[in-house]
Amino acid sequence: MNTSTSFQETAVRWGFVKYRSLFLTFILLVVLSSPLWFKGQLILFLATQAAVMMLVAIGLNLLMGYAGLVSLGHGALVAIGGYTTALLMVDAQISFWIASLAGVALATVTGVLMALPALRLSTWYFALVTLTFSQVVSDLLVEWKGVTKGFSGIVGIPAPSLFGRSLSPVEVYIVVAACVVLAFILSRNLVQSRIGRGMVAARDNPLAATAAGVSIWRIKLFAFAISAALAGLAGAFFAVQKTVITPEDFNADFSIFFLLTIVVGGLGRLWGPVIGTLVFFLLPELLGPLQSWRLLIYGVILLVLMVFAPHGITGMKWWRRWFDRPASITVLDGEKRPVHADPIQHVSLMIRGLKKHFGGVKALDGCDLHADSACVHALVGPNGSGKTTILNAISGFVQADEGSIIIGSVNVMKMAPHQIARLGVGRTFQTPKLLNDMTVLDNVQLGGFVSEKASAFEIALRMARASRDQAEGQTNAMELLLFVGLAERANDIAGDLPHGQQRLVEIARAMVSRPSLLLLDEPAAGLSLAELDRLGILIEAIVAKGTTVLVVEHHLELIARISRSVTVLDRGCVLADGTPDEVFSHPEVERAYMGREAMRGAK
Ligand code: ADP
Ligand code: MG
Repeated sequence: MNTSTSFQETAVRWGFVKYRSLFLTFILLVVLSSPLWFKGQLILFLATQAAVMMLVAIGLNLLMGYAGLVSLGHGALVAIGGYTTALLMVDAQISFWIASLAGVALATVTGVLMALPALRLSTWYFALVTLTFSQVVSDLLVEWKGVTKGFSGIVGIPAPSLFGRSLSPVEVYIVVAACVVLAFILSRNLVQSRIGRGMVAARDNPLAATAAGVSIWRIKLFAFAISAALAGLAGAFFAVQKTVITPEDFNADFSIFFLLTIVVGGLGRLWGPVIGTLVFFLLPELLGPLQSWRLLIYGVILLVLMVFAPHGITGMKWWRRWFDRPASITVLDGEKRPVHADPIQHVSLMIRGLKKHFGGVKALDGCDLHADSACVHALVGPNGSGKTTILNAISGFVQADEGSIIIGSVNVMKMAPHQIARLGVGRTFQTPKLLNDMTVLDNVQLGGFVSEKASAFEIALRMARASRDQAEGQTNAMELLLFVGLAERANDIAGDLPHGQQRLVEIARAMVSRPSLLLLDEPAAGLSLAELDRLGILIEAIVAKGTTVLVVEHHLELIARISRSVTVLDRGCVLADGTPDEVFSHPEVERAYMGREAMRGAK
């Protein structure tokens, strides 16, 4: 046994592992409170500034690390928060508390207005838009002299006062540090909830996210608004701390600095912005005489990290081993078990005259289809006959040109895919769309995005309903993993699973939201014979719960066994429909489809 394991055992005995987050919080509190013991003015000044930077970094990590949006404009948002606060305090003698609220509001609104049109662009265009925004803001700070006083900036910004007394630098520091702790807790709560899963899904696999009912656009805008608000708040503190702000404070380096801190700390890692700021900000500052080498030191740190820790400091192996909490799976039992009072709603599916042309390709050319509620309806046909296109049209991933699609009593023709998902339509994809870096359990829990009811506010403050959602969501997900036979793989990384099991994870994910209609695109492809049998039983069990299943499949024996009715497609048109017996004995079908199957089988 090597020393590191015995050391680890000792640590476990000390309860370190069990209380690791308490331990980390304790370290953070010690670090945060250290300036109070040293009492040095410089240390206090630096610590306040570091805490201000941490606020920005925590927000930016939410945006970049989780929602996957690169912003080069956060420096400008800090400037907006800072200038608004300073101007209101200096020119209008408004108290800091109100002025800073105005700063936060203006930074949030401006940020959202900037991001709104840009969110539909790709990551790099988005980054360019934010860069341009930051350029415009820094030009404005210089040119709009009547308000911003140009290059000379705003001087004599007073300290915040409370009950008629100005706060001392120590007290200002305590307020900023408290805000950092709050921001950290808020971001942790968001990240560990359905919202965090939705953000990561929107970043890594927009199709999977949409199928789970996530509005990509809304969740990214939400991440942007939160990070802009934190940047605005940081700006307010920045102004009162420095007492003078000039456009020079917010140059291009400023935005880049935040980017570097969260990359160094670890993108998309909870402690990343905290550690990143400490290293990147305090280290060179504490080097004192080496101050002028600061940029060089940054560069060297970055290079070393890129080689030795591509996922940042908190993404390094030792950090993950010591500080990452392994997902604890709490399966609720007894009376705590979630009770689904309302049974799954029974819906039928009715498609009339559905057309979809891709340029000259008539993928669908006037299809009709009817599936009874709580039955299996199969869709068969040769490759390229339009089966996937029908599933895409039903789930809103493709906008059909003509026709109607009625689920229950709702015509979903013009609806967005995430809205259709919210109606109770679950689906899988022909090639499984999983979040390959997340655990199997997280993947399945993503499916509960819509059925978990706590609002963002409740989640951020981890109120009772949010905790209940979390526990119930996990229990539901575990039950579904049990249902598809993958419970023991819950904590494995989804991308490591064999193809057939990935399909089952996808089915479990679709089932978490208890869909009324489930669309399965070739679920049996790549399954072994034993798995095929299992799949048949699984689909029958799903139907028994009341869900209507529309399944695209090539395995005719499976279809004959489980489905009530079958539609055969050929080149975008319905060739036949009816019971499996009727359809498979249809001469046209034998010629168009079975013939080819038979030939394929003979090869
Ligand atoms: P199936 O699932 O039955 O194999 P699809 O529905 O995927 O068939 O495709 C039907 C036809 O539509 C094919 O000719 C395919 O090339 C075409 N098609 C499908 N999606 C698109 C698309 N997004 N753009 C252009 N052509 C497409
Ligand atoms: Mg297909």
